[in-house]
Amino acid sequence: MPKRDYYEVLGVSRDASPEEIKKAYRRLARQLHPDVNKSDPNAAEKFKELNEAYQVLSDPEARAKYDRFGPESFEQGGFAPGAGGFGPFGDFGDLGDLFDLFFGTRTAGRAQRGPVPGADLRYDLSVTLEEVARGGEREIEVPRAETCERCRGSGAEPGTAPRTCGRCGGRGEVQFAQSTGFGRFVSVRTCEVCQGEGTVIETPCRQCRGEGVVRKVRRLKVTIPPGVEDGTRLRIAGGGEAGRRGGPPGDLYLYVTVRPHPIFQRQGNDVLCEIPISFTQAALGGVLEVPTLDGRAELRIPEGTQTGTVFRLRGKGLPGLHGRGRGDQQVRVRVVTPTHLSPRQKELLRQLEAEGEGKDFLGKMKDALGRH
Ligand SMILES: [Zn+2]
Ligand SMILES: [Zn+2]
Repeated sequence: MPKRDYYEVLGVSRDASPEEIKKAYRRLARQLHPDVNKSDPNAAEKFKELNEAYQVLSDPEARAKYDRFGPESFEQGGFAPGAGGFGPFGDFGDLGDLFDLFFGTRTAGRAQRGPVPGADLRYDLSVTLEEVARGGEREIEVPRAETCERCRGSGAEPGTAPRTCGRCGGRGEVQFAQSTGFGRFVSVRTCEVCQGEGTVIETPCRQCRGEGVVRKVRRLKVTIPPGVEDGTRLRIAGGGEAGRRGGPPGDLYLYVTVRPHPIFQRQGNDVLCEIPISFTQAALGGVLEVPTLDGRAELRIPEGTQTGTVFRLRGKGLPGLHGRGRGDQQVRVRVVTPTHLSPRQKELLRQLEAEGEGKDFLGKMKDALGRH
């Protein structure tokens, strides 16, 4: 029997994309499968041809070779794409893959049955430094799959029940016999009628269309632990997607990012800030009003404070994650040199300058400022 062109077998053009080839293969595999063509004596042959064409055209390297040298390069078993070579099915290891491809099942055979746990979800939660300081609650909206309330997850319309699959008798898998040039192989595959579940829903639930789960946007209250750190991952057990067939729900993971603060920087449990002070405040000392994470606080600075000096406000930082004490607020002062002086101010400063070395700077400053 002369070999047909592989592209012709799959009914695709020579420049078909891998996706198109896969699609064509799936469609034809269902159509030509020997199980559904029992009356056709050539069914196995046709199916074999289809698989051969697909094995070559779905493998980029083999396809390139085929395009270049034609079908002859694939005869006499001289070429084996992949590890298995190809009869209709290379070896049995590939059989599972092949059937996954036919019937769109996700995993082979038994894995489909029984409870399936729900997927975990991730939610990115951005919090302010104030929230870190106090902790608190936040309401978030999480889109997720939830167990359908109408059918309680069974997928069957209330009043009806899933019935045992007639094809596989509830086993979820069927024996599969295939006669090939190499002999007769018997293997087991996922039941294509029930997708391996062993039961068939005849009257699907109207709410979830038989899925057993529905998508919902769920409002959840989440707790922000005081002192939480940037990059922390918080787990909310059972907050993820609903499981199927009685499987447990997944978890919800909150990925916490702490938003940058306009005033404060975080350093462990301390917060740092910089406060501009005037020339005279630096020289004479006094009481500053400084912002803290819980409102304003007073900070006394001594006379003769230099720019860059750091003062600590004890206990005004962030709480330790496990309730161990609280950090400090570090206040770094920056002396702002005046730029727009009035003639009178300039005069005073010149007097200061002229008073000379005898007196120390502070004394001079006080005198000068005290004078007006
Ligand atoms: Zn339902
Ligand atoms: Zn079945």
